[in-house]
Amino acid sequence: MVTVEELTTFCKKKGLVFANSEIYGGIAGFFDYGPIGVELKNNIKKEWWTYHVQQRQDVVGIDGSIIAHPTVWIASGHVNGFSDVLVSCTKCNERFRADVLIEDLLNISASSLTLSDINEFIRTKNLKCTKCKSPLGEASAFNLMFQTFVGPKQDKDAIAYLRPETAQLMFANFKLVAETARCKLPFGIAQIGKAFRNEISPRNFLFRMREFEQMEIEYFIHPDKHDECPFIKHVLEYELLILSSESQIKGTSATKMTIAAALENNIIQSPWHAYWLATEHNWFVKLGCNPEHIRVRQHVTEEKAHYAKDTWDLEYEFPFGWKELQGIADRSDYDLQQHIKNSGKDLSLYDEETKKKIVPHVVAEPSTGVDRAFLLFLCEAYLYSKERDYVVLRLHPALAPVKAAIFPLLSNKEELTKLAHKIYEDIREDFPAQYDTSGSVGRRYARADEIGIPYCITIDFDSITNKDVTIRDRDTASQIRVPIKQLQQRLCQLLKQEIAFEKAGVLVKKENNTQHNSDDPTSNTQN
Ligand code: ATP
Repeated sequence: MVTVEELTTFCKKKGLVFANSEIYGGIAGFFDYGPIGVELKNNIKKEWWTYHVQQRQDVVGIDGSIIAHPTVWIASGHVNGFSDVLVSCTKCNERFRADVLIEDLLNISASSLTLSDINEFIRTKNLKCTKCKSPLGEASAFNLMFQTFVGPKQDKDAIAYLRPETAQLMFANFKLVAETARCKLPFGIAQIGKAFRNEISPRNFLFRMREFEQMEIEYFIHPDKHDECPFIKHVLEYELLILSSESQIKGTSATKMTIAAALENNIIQSPWHAYWLATEHNWFVKLGCNPEHIRVRQHVTEEKAHYAKDTWDLEYEFPFGWKELQGIADRSDYDLQQHIKNSGKDLSLYDEETKKKIVPHVVAEPSTGVDRAFLLFLCEAYLYSKERDYVVLRLHPALAPVKAAIFPLLSNKEELTKLAHKIYEDIREDFPAQYDTSGSVGRRYARADEIGIPYCITIDFDSITNKDVTIRDRDTASQIRVPIKQLQQRLCQLLKQEIAFEKAGVLVKKENNTQHNSDDPTSNTQN
């Protein structure tokens, strides 16, 4: 499996991700996306928005601001309680996030430990600073909110916060959204945007950052209709790798199970929760993630937020172990009630059936980090090919930053470059393409494969007489010949995966020289 260090180096070399302000030595937990990375990141967000908002009738979007009225964060509980446990070395003053330190040193799950549990662990297990081996001090809570001032006066009345999640804006705007979009329960509000957390120890590249992006939905239902999920029938046969809280307590491993079986056996209790777990899992699988690499894990009782009825995480097997990719909490009416209490405003909806006011419940809050999703798709796509002796980025065509590369066979023959450039201009009207004349065709293939371009188009002397071109497939290196007249249509079909490569033209070279993992994402059957 590729390591995080290899990915970091690769991302820098190929213009995907750079350490922020590198020329000044960088700043921990902040990254910048380069020319190729920004395209991949935008494609991830675009695919998420299409699947979760535009293709559904029951979800609408918003784009809230990063700074909100500070009471939003008092109502949500972040000002008082959004903290991790910090522990420092008594000698070198190195700071650690205590639960992560315990997990690293003792190889146990520490996310459910309280502050006093952590202090007890540090004492009884005699845990030391990993840098200088000196004793650790007393652990304490550390608030992760970034504070700032709004306006010219920098006193306590001007304090504001950079949002630590996008979710609260969906609650604060709930009534306005419901009224203006004429939403009827059940319905969701979605948002993609930046979030900021002053993480104690940012690490593992894009996994734990201090500035990151989230894609979140708050899904609201009628408080008396927890068991009425109209969509559950569509996912009953969908299979998930499930790690229940009971399995974690007993120390048994995750089990593959259909949604129907998980509901029947009361492992997942709410049909709504089951529906959202399958829906979210499917989004990653549709975009090329091997289902064996994602599991759903139920929070054990001590790990759950006090207001959460049930919480499941989607976890991915990152190079540094199984870690959270997405949290899906059942938050009941906690947040809306908090905002009703703190704002004094009526945020209820009128129930036509009972003629009563109701405060909807959030039955699921699927919340995914864009950057963690980026890391996942990178891990899934990254493949060092022994035959080609370079990395082939086997991204799903929908995510590929550039969809096609166009090469004239020889760059000094005007008849070839003229035709190739015309083809490039035509293709660019439909999707991002690259025109490359530099070096041998082999070098140009390599450059294209490394940034995940699914198809390379070569224009040679036969193209002038026969009016056709060669298309080469990134993953197999097979080649077909396609008439120029049909090129755009064929490319569209190939990118949408509507046609098999070998059926899209006349096969001129059949190869399969990218070694395929046994976990080839194209072999998954859950799409
Ligand atoms: P963790 O336990 O890893 O700190 P969390 O449970 O605090 O995560 P949530 O508050 O549920 O995370 O946030 C929802 C999602 O936002 C996470 O599943 C993750 O994908 C993303 N996310 C959270 N914190 C970070 C971070 N520091 N860097 C990158 N992504 C993050």
